[in-house]
Amino acid sequence: MLYDITRTVSASSAVWPGDAPYQTQLGWSLAAGQAVNLVTITTTPHVGTHADAYYHYEIAGAHPATMPLDAYLGRVRVVTVSKRDGALTPTDIPVALDGAERVLIHSHVSDLPDSTFAPEFPYLSVELIAWLASLGIRLIGLDSPSVDAFDSQELPCHHALARHGLVNLENVYLRDVPDGDYELIALPLKLDAACASPVRAVLRSLNER
Ligand SMILES: [Zn+2]
Repeated sequence: MLYDITRTVSASSAVWPGDAPYQTQLGWSLAAGQAVNLVTITTTPHVGTHADAYYHYEIAGAHPATMPLDAYLGRVRVVTVSKRDGALTPTDIPVALDGAERVLIHSHVSDLPDSTFAPEFPYLSVELIAWLASLGIRLIGLDSPSVDAFDSQELPCHHALARHGLVNLENVYLRDVPDGDYELIALPLKLDAACASPVRAVLRSLNER
């Protein structure tokens, strides 16, 4: 069984307020008699399901091309949380995470359509990140649009991820995915200079490996 846990990227995809939406422009056109269709895209790289690069919040941070690729590929545990808004702490995680290498946190946000920017969403806490790092976890994915609070300027959770050597995914789409263990495949594009990369994120049942 393969679960596509990626938000569709379109002109109506929700983006962070003020960020650049996904737009397409047809340059060469088959309908106009040219040999091919050639579409130029402009977009924030934080559109849809994506991996933040450390450069997003650290001056000398890595771009997507040099983020640690192995963190985005391998065993992952999907857990559902009931908190709808605010910071998640270890007590909000309803299952043991022993032996987990990655964790995807499923909240009410996965029930929202691609075009809706979540009016409220759960995010991480420095305490939760430190605890997950102590368990050996490499990646934390959220269906929320940020690992920090909407109005945060200090971005303590983003910085804590970099400090602990963790990577994150945002806007993961987990509706209809049962909690449990899977193989995650969510590789960032090999983009230089950018601050994030869209990913095509999938979960594969472990018994199909
Ligand atoms: Zn982001």
